[in-house]
Amino acid sequence: MDLKLGCPGGLYVLRLGHRPRRDKRITTHCGLVALALGARGIIISGGHDEAVVDSIRDVADRWHVDFSADLAGSWEDVVREFKDRGCLVVHLTMYGVNLPFVLDGLKNAFRKRGILAIIGSGKVPAAVFEMSDLNVAITHLPHSEVAALAIFADRLFGGVELLSSRSRGLIILPQHRGKAVLHRISQRSSI
Ligand code: SAM
Repeated sequence: MDLKLGCPGGLYVLRLGHRPRRDKRITTHCGLVALALGARGIIISGGHDEAVVDSIRDVADRWHVDFSADLAGSWEDVVREFKDRGCLVVHLTMYGVNLPFVLDGLKNAFRKRGILAIIGSGKVPAAVFEMSDLNVAITHLPHSEVAALAIFADRLFGGVELLSSRSRGLIILPQHRGKAVLHRISQRSSI
């Protein structure tokens, strides 16, 4: 697997244990939330599912956002690769430490090293808890990987992603009613 990470940094998401028969929609939503809320890419492990990466890449392409979606054979290899590159590995789990207590340290690590955030699907292997640098809880009740990722990213970025657009091609003009979209004109010359 070539993750094409030029240098460590940014937020990446590792989606564990994807089950093609039942998780297509929710894994796609993990990708879309990662894309919309400031992550650089998502890596999907578990059942091999080209369709799910294609659907995330398709949204990134149509909205002109730099975002990668990749399949991984082994989640352990992904975690090792990110650790080797100096990233902090954070597993989101209801059994972890409360996010507000570790947020300053996470922001610091994010600036210096980048973060790989791991989210599960079915039962998460015990080794994930062990290999992660930090297990972080978004409340201590079970809910959804989509919600956990959204809150994590939003707190990590301090809400700035709610005010900015990552699209290189489209500008949404905020409207009280209706829709207004501008298309950026490419500066590239065909000469
Ligand atoms: N049954 C799984 C287990 O044994 O860990 C949990 C499945 S849960 C539906 C899917 C994923 O959502 C979890 O692996 C975790 O990443 C995330 N998640 C759910 N609730 C969470 C919480 N309160 N805090 C952080 N992450 C959570």
